[in-house]
Amino acid sequence: MWSKGTAAEAFRKLAELSRGALELVLPPTCGGCDAQIDPTAVLCMACDRRLERIAPGTCQLCQEMPPRPDTGLCASCELSDSALTACFAAFRFEGGGADWIHRFKYPKKGLRGLDPVPASVVRAMLHEAGCRVSGPQPGLVVPVPLHPRRLRLRGFNPAAELARALAREFEIPFDPVALCRTRDTPSQTGLDRHERRHNVRGAFRSRRGRNIPEQIWLVDDVVTTASTLTEAAIALRAAGARAVIGLCAARALSNVPSVNR
Ligand SMILES: [Zn+2]
Ligand SMILES: [Zn+2]
Repeated sequence: MWSKGTAAEAFRKLAELSRGALELVLPPTCGGCDAQIDPTAVLCMACDRRLERIAPGTCQLCQEMPPRPDTGLCASCELSDSALTACFAAFRFEGGGADWIHRFKYPKKGLRGLDPVPASVVRAMLHEAGCRVSGPQPGLVVPVPLHPRRLRLRGFNPAAELARALAREFEIPFDPVALCRTRDTPSQTGLDRHERRHNVRGAFRSRRGRNIPEQIWLVDDVVTTASTLTEAAIALRAAGARAVIGLCAARALSNVPSVNR
């Protein structure tokens, strides 16, 4: 029998398939308005401009400060000795980008919750983050897991859905259960940087034993202080990963100039 989570996922996939079938007979339209668009695009130019891109070329870890040319990291991140090798989002978590992520993470009840457009937009946002990574192809894509209790309450893990799509697009193996949450940690919302770090300390464990690739992409929907990603990266590094790159659809930043395409 289907659990609530798998049924919700199956319905979402069905809705996406229906959209794909419709696109064969009708010209594709923008997910944000009714403008006709290129079949490879998700949004029209006008709706795309409502998403704030993070300027490329900043520090590969904080995306806030100018990097040093030799390491790609700012002076502060060089000293931080983070378990994350790098962390990328292509969009700021505000305005239009935050709206799409909210619609994806908290779908409406009933049939309107089956709208596949928010997932398509957020997947495209994460894809751009993946395009910012240089270096060797990773051996695995891993999502930040939810605790089983939260997964039951929510019905799906947004990070896992995004990670699955990213792995398919970049042709990288995907393991949704490589990490598990050992504690059901309270929400990070409203906590400061220090409290967030403390809240998730030791909350993750690798399930792959020593069978872990050297290079891993670790996926979450949104990054704020990177406390959760860092803690998950610590678990992957402890299991033997040499480089863990965090990838997110959007990032909350304090003072970085954004660019619009
Ligand atoms: Zn549009
Ligand atoms: Zn930095």
